[in-house]
Amino acid sequence: MEQKKKKKFYADLHNHSFAGGTPEFLEDHGLHFPRVERVNGIEHMNEIWNEYLYKHQYDLHALSLLLKANFENCRQTGVKTVAPSITYRLVDKEKGIFPDAPEKFIEFLKSFKHDDLTINWILSINRDRYRPDQERGVVMDLIKSGFFKGIDLSSTEDPDLNKVFKDFYKQANQQGMVTQVHAGEQLGADYVMQCIKDFEPKHIQHGISIVQSPKIMKVAQKEGITFNVCPTSNVELGYAKSHGEHPIRAMYYNDLSLTINTDDMLFFNSSVPEEYKRLKQNGTLTDRQLEDIRQNSLKVADEMTRDV
Ligand SMILES: [Zn+2]
Repeated sequence: MEQKKKKKFYADLHNHSFAGGTPEFLEDHGLHFPRVERVNGIEHMNEIWNEYLYKHQYDLHALSLLLKANFENCRQTGVKTVAPSITYRLVDKEKGIFPDAPEKFIEFLKSFKHDDLTINWILSINRDRYRPDQERGVVMDLIKSGFFKGIDLSSTEDPDLNKVFKDFYKQANQQGMVTQVHAGEQLGADYVMQCIKDFEPKHIQHGISIVQSPKIMKVAQKEGITFNVCPTSNVELGYAKSHGEHPIRAMYYNDLSLTINTDDMLFFNSSVPEEYKRLKQNGTLTDRQLEDIRQNSLKVADEMTRDV
C-alpha cells in the first residue's frame, strides 16, 4: 500500500511582498507578468521590475492582487510563516495609495489573514530611493507603530550609507523587533561585519559573502545572527556560481543559523520547497543537513512570531 507522505512545512523569511506570487495566478486574475525563464543579472531584473512591477505599488487593485498571489503561493507550497517586506512608500504624500495615512496602510495589511499562514510584516527601506529629508519621520513613526515585526534595508549595498539608517535600527532593536539587513550579496565579508557593528541585526538577508572570512563567520555565529539565504536568486543574479557551489554549504559547516527562502518568486520561479530540492539535486547539502535548516527556519519563524 502506498504511504501518504506527511506534508512538510516551511518558512519564507526573505520575501519581497510584491514579487512573491506566480505569473499564472496573476494572469488568471487579469494582471500580466511575463514568465521569466531565467534572470540574467541584476540589470535584467531591474528592467523587468521597472516595466511590469514598479507601477503597481501605486495601484490598490494591482497591489492587493500581488499580495494575494504571494500568500496563495505560500499556502500551496507548505509555507506556514512568511515575513513579507513592504515599502513605507505606500504612504507617500504625492504618489502613495494611502497618502499620509499610516493607519490606513496598516489596516490594509491587517486585512490579509489566513488561518493556515502567519504573516509577519517587515517594513522595508530601499537604500537607493530613501529621501531622508522627507521620509525620516514617517519611517520612524511606522517603526514605533508597533505593527511591524521587523525592518529591512535593501537594494544597493553601500558602506557610506549605513550612518543614515543607524537610528532606525537602534529604535527597532530597542523595541525588540526583528532587525534584518540585506548585506553580503553584492559586497564582501567586511561589509557584513560593518552591518553587524552598525545595526546589530538579528537577521542578515543573503550574507553569502561572509564565507570569505572564517573570523567574521565566528562573530556572526556567536551573536546568533540568522542568515536568510535565497540560492536561486544568488545564482541568477550572478552572486553565486551555481547551486552546487553555493556558499550555503560553507555557511552550514561554520554553524551559522540558516534559513532557505524565495527572495522574489515572480522572477526566480522557485518556491521554498523547490529551493531545498535544487540544493539536494546539486549535491550542495544532504537530506539531513537540509532537514536541519528546515527545522531551524521553523524555529526562527516561531521566535519571530512571538517577539514584539
Ligand atoms: Zn532580497
